[in-house]
Amino acid sequence: MASATLRGCIWTSSGVAAECEMSYFRIAKTFEVEYGHRLSKHPEKCRFPHGHSLKIEVVARGRHLDDNDMVCDYKALKMLVLDLVEGLDHAMALNSEDPYLEDLTEIGERILVFEGEDPTTEVLARWLYQRIAERMAQGGWVKERTQERYRLPEGLELERIRVWETSTSWAEYVGMDDAGTLGS
Ligand SMILES: [Zn+2]
Repeated sequence: MASATLRGCIWTSSGVAAECEMSYFRIAKTFEVEYGHRLSKHPEKCRFPHGHSLKIEVVARGRHLDDNDMVCDYKALKMLVLDLVEGLDHAMALNSEDPYLEDLTEIGERILVFEGEDPTTEVLARWLYQRIAERMAQGGWVKERTQERYRLPEGLELERIRVWETSTSWAEYVGMDDAGTLGS
């Protein structure tokens, strides 16, 4: 069969990319939580404690499909991030240097403190990315309370976290955007 190489892909005469170094699959799972924060540096309304119905998109990728022809079972992805996401639910996020930190932490539980940074959507996206990427890199098994468990596929990588603060505003943290760094 005749073939040609274009942009790292080997194309057959029928126009089908038989093999492509740059190709990979992406999957996403979305979570919704109620969450509060105060932006201590903000000159306007965001400096007041307030809440958002956050939508969090976890985007993972992999070059290969597993034995079930999936990048990763959605259930496994959910189990992987559930504790973190549930920890945000009805939490109040604050800057460690917030002058009102002490007063606001008297609320009690579910205070999330960011070291020296206001808990903007950008900061939260990076915070989630770092924790989920670390867990994903460990691989192995994930399980939930029912003891149901899934093995994370080899080569699974976290690509980005997108956090929707409102229906019209989101911020992303992208860990890497070069397909060349993908695991094989
Ligand atoms: Zn806000």
